[in-house]
Amino acid sequence: MIIDCHGHYTTAPAEVEAWRKLQVEALANPSQAPQKAALRISDDQIRESLEGAQLKLQRERGTDLTIFSPRAASMAHHIGDAQVSRVWSEICNELVHRCCVLYPDNFVGVCQLPQSPGVPPATCIAELERCVKEFGFVGCNLNPDPSGGHWKEPPLTDRWWYPLYENMVELEVPAMVHVSTSCNPAFHTTGAHYLNADTTAFMQFLTSDLFKDFPTLKFVIPHGGGAAPYHWGRFRGLAQDMKRPPLQELLLNNVFFDTCVYHRPGIELLLKVVPVDNILFASEMVGAVRGIDPETGYHYDDTLRYVNSIEWLSEADRNKIFEDNARKVYPRLERD
Ligand SMILES: [Zn+2]
Repeated sequence: MIIDCHGHYTTAPAEVEAWRKLQVEALANPSQAPQKAALRISDDQIRESLEGAQLKLQRERGTDLTIFSPRAASMAHHIGDAQVSRVWSEICNELVHRCCVLYPDNFVGVCQLPQSPGVPPATCIAELERCVKEFGFVGCNLNPDPSGGHWKEPPLTDRWWYPLYENMVELEVPAMVHVSTSCNPAFHTTGAHYLNADTTAFMQFLTSDLFKDFPTLKFVIPHGGGAAPYHWGRFRGLAQDMKRPPLQELLLNNVFFDTCVYHRPGIELLLKVVPVDNILFASEMVGAVRGIDPETGYHYDDTLRYVNSIEWLSEADRNKIFEDNARKVYPRLERD
């Protein structure tokens, strides 16, 4: 079985974006904000939005189950206040839940959290609990920078986040560290902000004792871990200079990387540098990079092809990356 731990509902019907536009337009005058019930999407529309995209690619490429969350760039936690974020997150999570109900063999949900800049993350607990307990979701996407590129929150290792972590541990759900759209023109959203955040989160974990406080808390750092694998020697050396324990002991029971690296040499480096127990298969399709690589003739985000092309990877290790590690990190995934 091949589990893709990183997919987003990027193809939701246009009505969703239109509803969001009305919500944003009403920011100055909340009495004008659209009701949740005003968004009407039929099951057929949802089927249509998936059949020609995520489901088609699953079938063509040969993956089985996608751990599926709302479109990351649309989370836009910096827009409006906590109430705006709450209603928008509920809508996005309910849509993902409907995808999972329509295609239970193909998708399992991960939720968007109703974060808002400067608002304690504890306010996200109710929505996380609803998604896990009512919808059967298996994780959440946690945005370390709800300001959208201005980095105003305390680091992920600060006690600011602890109430949410306590809840995650209790529910046995991991978080994928995932920023949203950048509203800082210095950072391109998917080309810079996403990868910066991945690297930043890794360094935050390295310099803290977070996992002493939460030995079972788990994070997935997406996009291959940002710059972390490429600079593994730097990170190991920094930890050593700071008299920190070795990375294995410090964070590798808690921090995992996905394979959303869009060329074979990058995947090969990831697999050579990061222990195989810490790598989860993912493609992030349909997502950030949608084109075909003229050098290979295949989609950049067809990451399965790269993993399969690494001839020195043993069958047992391949299975860890494709399935076993995901089941360890997302214990709520049911075994069928
Ligand atoms: Zn993503």
